[in-house]
Amino acid sequence: MTAPPGTPPPLAGGRDGADALRPLLGTVLEALRTGARQRGGPLPAGGPEAVTARVRAALGDVLPDRGTGDHEALRTLVHTLAAGAADPADPLCAAHLHCPPLAVAAAADLAAAALNPSLDSWDQAPAASAVEALLTRALAAEFHPAAARPDALVTTGGTEANQLALLLARERHGPALTVLHGANAHHSVPRAAWLLGLPPARSIPTPTGTLHPADLADALATTTGPVLVTATAGTTDAGLVDPLPEIARLCDRHGRAELHVDAAYGGLLALSPRHRHRVAGLDRARSVTVDLHKLGWQPVAAGLLTVPDTALLAPLAHQADYLNATDDTDAGLPDLLGRSLRTTRRPDALKIAVTLRSLGRDGLVRLIDHTCALAHALARRLDAHPGFEVHAPPTISTVLFRPAHADDEQLAALRRTLLHQGRAVLGRARADGRLWLKATLLNPRTTPGDLDTLVALLEGSTHR
Ligand SMILES: *Cc1c(COP(=O)(O)O)cnc(C)c1O
Repeated sequence: MTAPPGTPPPLAGGRDGADALRPLLGTVLEALRTGARQRGGPLPAGGPEAVTARVRAALGDVLPDRGTGDHEALRTLVHTLAAGAADPADPLCAAHLHCPPLAVAAAADLAAAALNPSLDSWDQAPAASAVEALLTRALAAEFHPAAARPDALVTTGGTEANQLALLLARERHGPALTVLHGANAHHSVPRAAWLLGLPPARSIPTPTGTLHPADLADALATTTGPVLVTATAGTTDAGLVDPLPEIARLCDRHGRAELHVDAAYGGLLALSPRHRHRVAGLDRARSVTVDLHKLGWQPVAAGLLTVPDTALLAPLAHQADYLNATDDTDAGLPDLLGRSLRTTRRPDALKIAVTLRSLGRDGLVRLIDHTCALAHALARRLDAHPGFEVHAPPTISTVLFRPAHADDEQLAALRRTLLHQGRAVLGRARADGRLWLKATLLNPRTTPGDLDTLVALLEGSTHR
């Protein structure tokens, strides 16, 4: 029903918000269902031109003179988006560190959108800011177990967390800070150095995929002034983990080198008794990047920068009279402005807190372990198959493999063909000077049968 002229549309919050939302949610959920059914696979068939044409046709005039009403607008656009989605909940959508969000986390995110707390001042987020404070301290303690005052900032992801890590290091050591990182590091690390006006970050070659301690030692020996070493726990391309304890030891011995670990992908392994040895040494870092929208199963965005001592976050302190007047802070209103470079900020802590409470430590660890086990199972299947070559057993949940008789060009074309046909979303990565197909398993509901389907699909696509 279209609102009569003059009556503003219903709001999501307030006492009547839930009643206004309920029928709209019915429409949204139905459109998600019809859209997924129309797509019928991991992504829409036809490639960019076909998808864009369908979106253009559905969207029509983006700002029509007369509105179509809530239900029509939701039905049309949500259906179109779902029909045209690369859906990480489909087991054959496994290219990137792009996780299928848990239903419970998405439901919690709806509440966040309805209430719309903004984390830049207490008077916009009384309970949400308390949830964030408790959640960040509790999660930071998982990565810095021996620390007295661990804390974390909620970020939009690994990119922002890495930027903040470099910024905090620059504030500790000044603008001559050298950032040293492996060539395997995420591209956001050198980009952050550029953004912050630091000297160009120095990249250390990583021909075996991880940062070799001897190479780092050489680089440290030829660097003057303060250094921030950025190591990676879970490389984006292969899921490899740099030797953190040795790297931490080299930083300690150097005297002017601090360690930041980008554990956007691998950080959550620290919760798993079976896998935590892979990220041993995380607790030696001055700061750690963790993404809960990778292993963690959160809708975007859910990033963290954790530190062993909340005092390390002090350089971000900032004052704006309308948000944190000194007398308000003195009177006991929490000062939130120093917890981000953003001002208006979503309560991403809510969905994370809901997920942790719903699953418990046990449930979360089971998801992590099972997802890693799926990757091993896929690697074993491909390794046992004469038609495929596997780069290495997975460290986390990434499998690099290639059809045995394809060259790089054929492999890249195969990936694009599968995308174009809407049959599978696989990634690509370069290792040992060759191109590999990349399956990043992040779907804990993928079954052995799904892995068989994927292998059969690849088999059929390569032997033609
Ligand atoms: C994904 C990733 C990032 C970037 O994180 P975003 O959440 O995409 O900003 C940084 N570092 C590593 C190792 C990653 O895998």
